[in-house]
Amino acid sequence: MRGRTPTSAPATAGEIFRLVRDGVAGTRTEIGRETGLSRTAVAARVGRLLADGLVTEVIGAAATGGRPAARLEFNAAGGTVLALSIGVSRSKAAVCDLTGTVLAEDVIDLPAAVGPHRLIGDAVTVLEKLLLDAGTGDTGIRGIGLSIPGTVDAARGWSVGVPSLPGWERIPLPPMLTERFPAPVRVDNDVNVMALAEQAAHPDVDDLLMVKIGSGVGAGLVSGGALQRGAWGAAGEIGHIPVHDGPGIGCGCGNVDCLEVLASGRALVRDLAAGRPEGAVSTIADVVALVKQGDPDAVRLVRIAGRRLGEVLAAAVNLVNPALVAIGGDLVGAFDPLVAGVREAIYRRSMATATQSLRIEPGLLHGRSGVIGCAILVLDEVLSPASVDATLSS
Ligand SMILES: [Zn+2]
Repeated sequence: MRGRTPTSAPATAGEIFRLVRDGVAGTRTEIGRETGLSRTAVAARVGRLLADGLVTEVIGAAATGGRPAARLEFNAAGGTVLALSIGVSRSKAAVCDLTGTVLAEDVIDLPAAVGPHRLIGDAVTVLEKLLLDAGTGDTGIRGIGLSIPGTVDAARGWSVGVPSLPGWERIPLPPMLTERFPAPVRVDNDVNVMALAEQAAHPDVDDLLMVKIGSGVGAGLVSGGALQRGAWGAAGEIGHIPVHDGPGIGCGCGNVDCLEVLASGRALVRDLAAGRPEGAVSTIADVVALVKQGDPDAVRLVRIAGRRLGEVLAAAVNLVNPALVAIGGDLVGAFDPLVAGVREAIYRRSMATATQSLRIEPGLLHGRSGVIGCAILVLDEVLSPASVDATLSS
């Protein structure tokens, strides 16, 4: 009875599910050994997990001379979760299986400035279509993961203090989704969920800093294997840290020369558009295209933005000593000059011990880390032993 003392309460179905999901136990005999439960108690709990669809039974090859052993496996197809990643200029929606694999996804080409009712209303329509595309329909939706830019009050499910999202402040978002899809909703910051997704994509890394550089700039921190949200959910809000020797541009937050007004995608669009024909540069995609064409101004400005980002990241690197800085967001298409600037500043300003093996890489999930991270966020909750027990007893 490894890890269980005689005074522990008997293992629940939810705890047995965790043993199967984590690959610790795959047969009823192994479950009995891990939990100390009797054969009948194991059979009853496994029966409920099988009936609910969270695990399936696979008849394996017979061991030499023995009876074929029935192996229990986590059933990725035993339900779905919905993922909705809200962005300032566009959003993404997806239907995922229980491992967080995307089954169907789409972009919602609507700025968040239209307000939460209009945007989430459109998202519900898109999600209905995606459920049809995925072939799963409405049944078996186990949860919804939602991310929004800026600071999130996860308990209340709303955003606080997001200057880039006018009209979203303190509006409860989960009811807009649960009205149509009655399932538990988890809400978090957009970069936090990207950090969860990149952490899952890098199982060898326990300490990583996820940096999103799109319309704004933000970071998400995984430390010691766990996402760090901070006391009020504002950890990683690096966009409003002022950089030194800036040109003196005022920011919506009241400060001057915040990272976000100098080194975000929006700032680069502004700086590159200056002196060019009207409409020549109006989106982050235009900036990325110019960099890819080798436009000297674009390459130079992105490198300077990278240096400013690196100036702020250097302090973070010294403070938390990540193994990996993963960079995502729409500007990652201009990765080479961006990361050249970041490296220059980080190596100049960080201690050698913090940087000697530091990896600075584009995120592995490209444009998908937002929705995959939303799925992981809610899966962590709804597949926890306590939630599984609550579902089975309801
Ligand atoms: Zn600011």
